[in-house]
Amino acid sequence: MKVSDKLLAAHRDPSSPATFSFEFFTPKTTQGVQNLYDRMDRMYNLNPLFIDITWNAGGNLSNLTSEMVNITSTVLGLETCMHLTCTNMPLKLIDDALQNAYNSGCQNILALRGDPPLDGSESTGDFKYAKDLINHIRSKFGDYFCIGIAAYPEGHPEEPDNLKTLEYLKQKQDAGADFIVTQLFYDVDNFINWAKQCKDYGINIPIIPGIMPISNYNAFIRRAKWNGVKIPQNFIDRLDPIKDDDSKVRDEGCLLMAELCQKLIDSKLINHLHFYTMNLEKSTTMLLDKLNLVSLNSKMNYELENSKPWRKSL
Ligand code: FAD
Repeated sequence: MKVSDKLLAAHRDPSSPATFSFEFFTPKTTQGVQNLYDRMDRMYNLNPLFIDITWNAGGNLSNLTSEMVNITSTVLGLETCMHLTCTNMPLKLIDDALQNAYNSGCQNILALRGDPPLDGSESTGDFKYAKDLINHIRSKFGDYFCIGIAAYPEGHPEEPDNLKTLEYLKQKQDAGADFIVTQLFYDVDNFINWAKQCKDYGINIPIIPGIMPISNYNAFIRRAKWNGVKIPQNFIDRLDPIKDDDSKVRDEGCLLMAELCQKLIDSKLINHLHFYTMNLEKSTTMLLDKLNLVSLNSKMNYELENSKPWRKSL
């Protein structure tokens, strides 16, 4: 089923609780893949609207994304969204990936450009921007796929002009995108202002904030720097004094992120949260618990799965 239809159905009544989804990335080892299937299956008991699997352009890992989408869609029966990048990608590989998703019954694609090569060389491939990939998907598959796109509430590193960034986002919507997933962020006031600007600019497809739970101080700082996003002073004030104690950082990080998510939900601009799980379970489930977004029934199913002797929650 399409993510857009699931969102519509879940929020027909505007007072319905916020929904959520989980993103996973392709592991590097066969054992890692097996462990991840177990984790995805187990976390699905929490009743996410869908799960995402990232695209890792080039070689085996791209094939692995297609393979995993096939298993999660057909064997595990999980509503799946496949990420797909288009730079440095031969058209044949893009078409194979789309056809595999189609054959697996997967109806959701997050259409991305991908990052340029790290060595600074020119990107290769048939498409320049994510918009070109959206046009291609629509011309080849019509309305079969529900298409998601990426957005950057604090701007994209390659485009300093925020107005142009909004215009390019609108172009992706106009090319046929159905929903937006954002880059991680910690500055919630900036996010809310940006979401309002999007609406004013005529961007009216659902905006789904990307939520990165905090599980470790160094990883938190590193990811914020890597993604070029601002860390508000209250995050530093509350996390820096306990930075060497992972368990305290996880507890305080959970409170900070729960406050951020609650502010988003209260703004009424947002009714769905997308969790970057980093293939881990604990920080995401703690945050969901704090936000009270999991029904008692789903929690019981999840805990029952987790209590099996071979299960070990991370
Ligand atoms: P685009 O929308 O094409 O934008 C790229 C740049 O070009 C921007 O600076 C934009 O302002 C500019 N631009 C766009 N259109 C035009 C135009 N018409 N004229 C001039 N400039 C223009 N990467 C992966 O490799 N695999 C993944 O699975 C993955 N998942 C992601 C998920 C999310 C939610 C997000 C936010 C990012 C993800 N990325 C992933 C990273 C993404 O590929 C990079 O951030 C990439 O640099 C930009 O991709 P995009 O789809 O936003 O590109």
